[in-house]
Amino acid sequence: MDKQRDFVLRTIEERGVKFVRLWFTDVLGTLKSVAIAPAEVEGAFGEGIGFDGSAIEGLTRSYESDLLAFPDPSTFQILPWRGEVDPTARMFCDITTPDGQPASAEPRNVLKRTLAKAADAGFTFYTHPEIEFYLLKSSRFGAEGPEPVDRAGYFDNVPGGTAHDFRRRAVRMLEDLGISVEYSHHEVGPGQNEIDLRYADALTMADNIMTFRTVVKEVAIEQGVHATFMPKPLAGEPGSGMHTHMSLFEGDVNAFYEEGAQYQLSRTGRQFIAGLLKHANEIALVTNQFVNSYKRLWGGDEAPSYITWGHNNRSALIRVPLYKPGKGGSARVEYRAIDSAANPYLAYSLMLAAGLKGIEEEYELGPEAEDNVWALSSAERRALGYQSLPSSMYDAIKLMEDSELVAETLGEQIFSYVLANKRREYDAYRSQVTQYELKSTLDVI
Ligand code: GLU
Ligand code: MG
Ligand code: MG
Repeated sequence: MDKQRDFVLRTIEERGVKFVRLWFTDVLGTLKSVAIAPAEVEGAFGEGIGFDGSAIEGLTRSYESDLLAFPDPSTFQILPWRGEVDPTARMFCDITTPDGQPASAEPRNVLKRTLAKAADAGFTFYTHPEIEFYLLKSSRFGAEGPEPVDRAGYFDNVPGGTAHDFRRRAVRMLEDLGISVEYSHHEVGPGQNEIDLRYADALTMADNIMTFRTVVKEVAIEQGVHATFMPKPLAGEPGSGMHTHMSLFEGDVNAFYEEGAQYQLSRTGRQFIAGLLKHANEIALVTNQFVNSYKRLWGGDEAPSYITWGHNNRSALIRVPLYKPGKGGSARVEYRAIDSAANPYLAYSLMLAAGLKGIEEEYELGPEAEDNVWALSSAERRALGYQSLPSSMYDAIKLMEDSELVAETLGEQIFSYVLANKRREYDAYRSQVTQYELKSTLDVI
């Protein structure tokens, strides 16, 4: 720890860093930042930096508003988009109360707590997200909705296109920030892109996702376009998912792998999937946190709508990708519900908690879906026992209200905050009279 602090202080000195941003995340997943002078950094490591927590979404109740931010030296990076002159760096923070207790409603701390629970059971949790997003000409839009930067599709190589330059620049910046990128490509929707991050432990990954969103927004501004992680910005085009591949390791051993088992998937892996399937509905309000998220889930185009698992089945909620015998290290399961607008700390906490519950309670995994689940009739789906994911935010709220798993994992404070916040959002949405209603009903009766 002290070595890391020394490294940070030395780097600030050697690189002439002029500003150090302290980052943390509110309950809805918005990045917060306060810049301190280099001279303050040493003190911040020791005593923290005080701020008014009650001004941050969901972070405190007003009677306990004073909080402290302690920068985590292992997350120190110089921000490449700020340039070489007067460099700016950033560190993610741990948030505590004035008496040194971890702030109970701080998302990063929720994930740390859940990871500690996994560690007690002997597991380290790794994730690797495929992050989809849209590039639009502008954040402004008319009656036709937002305008994407191109009309290209899946894997298209767009000559001279904005998308190429964009991905090149974004990937380079991510690498400069120590975030490894595995793939990047144009996605199915016009202006839609995807960048896949190389797997890392879930805390590092949640930090990386917050950094990723900032990088993508910064590059968009630089290139005169607008980037959005909104789950379904264009009706009739695919939404933006954040499919997440997950694995549990016991030491160096991938606990999901068993040579010779069906799909080389171990009992632990099967139980983990069973846990996710059983609790998918309860955690949806966090993995899919906006009214708009449910338009992606029910809008087709490879977003999952039914609670099923399958081997390499892209219509299933959970996909077990193909991995070869002998390649045990890469055994993983892909959760396809989570979208690009989720708070990664809270969503990863709940996905992990659901999987761990399956292991703890030895849930049985039912049969896999072999068919295209979307193509079945509802009677066929019923006969096969496939349940639906919540069809709206309203359903998701109802399902989370009764969830012990979510209350326990998020802690009472975040649990009630999320529910209250989402009820407000849903009420505001419900009170709208939309263009659709006016067009379809005004002249009819
Ligand atoms: N865009 C799709 C979704 O919303 C995913 C497409 C893919 O399989 O990568 O989940
Ligand atoms: Mg994709
Ligand atoms: Mg995928």
